[in-house]
Amino acid sequence: MNAHDSEKVVGTLERQGYARVEDEAEAGLILYNTCSIRDKAEQKVFHRLNEYKRLQGEGKKFAVLGCVAQQEGEKIFEKAPYVSLVAGSASYRNLPEMLARLEAGEQRITGLDDRQTDLTFETEFTSRSNPHRGYITIIEGCDKFCAYCVVPYTRGKERSRTSASVLVEARRIVDLGYTEIQFLGQNVNSWRDPSGRMSFAELLVAVGELPGVKRVRFTTSHPRDFTRDIVEAIDATPTLCDHVHLPVQSGSTAVLKAMQREYTREWYLERMSWIKAAKRDISITSDMIVGFPGESDEDFEETVTLVGEVKYDAVFAFKFSPRPNTPAVTMADSIPDEVKAERLRILNDRQREIQREHYGRHLHKVVECMVEGYNSARGQVIGRSSQNKTVNFSMGEFGGEFGVQPPVGSYVPVKVTQTLPNSLVGEAAGLPDVLAIPVARTPDFVVLN
Ligand code: SAH
Ligand code: SF4
Repeated sequence: MNAHDSEKVVGTLERQGYARVEDEAEAGLILYNTCSIRDKAEQKVFHRLNEYKRLQGEGKKFAVLGCVAQQEGEKIFEKAPYVSLVAGSASYRNLPEMLARLEAGEQRITGLDDRQTDLTFETEFTSRSNPHRGYITIIEGCDKFCAYCVVPYTRGKERSRTSASVLVEARRIVDLGYTEIQFLGQNVNSWRDPSGRMSFAELLVAVGELPGVKRVRFTTSHPRDFTRDIVEAIDATPTLCDHVHLPVQSGSTAVLKAMQREYTREWYLERMSWIKAAKRDISITSDMIVGFPGESDEDFEETVTLVGEVKYDAVFAFKFSPRPNTPAVTMADSIPDEVKAERLRILNDRQREIQREHYGRHLHKVVECMVEGYNSARGQVIGRSSQNKTVNFSMGEFGGEFGVQPPVGSYVPVKVTQTLPNSLVGEAAGLPDVLAIPVARTPDFVVLN
């Protein structure tokens, strides 16, 4: 999400006449896009800004963007007086105006939003740097206020774009040569069409049916808003990837309650059963937090058993990290870091075991892979399956002296010959399907005589 925010910010700057340079030594303006979801992110930010201090004598300007900017606000000017612009993501639509003030020599410009705005940041000037995936933010902010989470305070109120505006952006992405589109949102499936035309599942299908689109992904889904028609849409529309990322956070209903997730273990498992009953083999992944205040050994054990019950394709597990402003930061019963670390190890070990067995279902099957890069040391192509698994493969009889190096963004059918805990290994079972490949956008220029 942050990487795509940067794509939009870069496009806005280019539109204002700025040119991008290779490194900070060459730059007149340095923008630092920050995240504060976990850890003492703000400390890292100030550490990094300190490094920039040595550059300030060269007349450079500095800006801090993103969640640390929103969270720390004007305190940033006190701690790092050489910074001139502090802007959270909910104010990016005002960047052109803020940049003009910066140019005019203003020293302290803030773009902060205390859950005020109803507007989204829509720009047609996104500078897309991902070589094969076109991102679209369909919903911004969050209204859910889970007890541990900083997002509702840093990214503002929940606000959706209209289906028409999303479809126009999708068409523009296809025109650039992208065949894979990914919808983004803190809770992507909480999207509600302000124009009332479409449900989230219908929007997925509408984009999946655009000519030229081969793959549609969406992340992150929230269990509260996960409806059955999303599974039905995936079943009915081959371009919708067979992958759902549905974070559970904990397997214990008591912990879920304390986290203010507003669902129970059983309620979550019911959604799992819908996905598992689909005709397609839909991969399921999740995020989990260990060591939330008050999490007992029994609660944690319920998370471990849930992982065994669901048989996830991947789990992203994190140690609970207290965040400023959130209710959890004041909760008693904090779990010692050694216990959190031990629980994280146990959970990751269990998940690894599950993946080792569960990935076996792909053996000898042919999966379509999108080429994302190359491992030249191993002579392998790095691809990604619709299920979002990494597949390292050789071109076999389709490569070599008379063969082809499939370009990034093309699709290759791959026969799986080996399964590893975190990836698949295989060999090309056909020639690449070389569709339009996105071209890197170059700045406009004019020749005058
Ligand atoms: N909106 C999504 C998640 C967005 S944040 C959802 O509700 O599922 C991405 C992930 O970061 C979360 O799923 C959670 O696992 C993790 N996370 C968020 N706040 C955290 C905290 N304070 N400590 C540890 N992990 C956290
Ligand atoms: Fe954070 Fe997700 Fe909860 Fe929103 S729904 S508060 S983004 S964890």
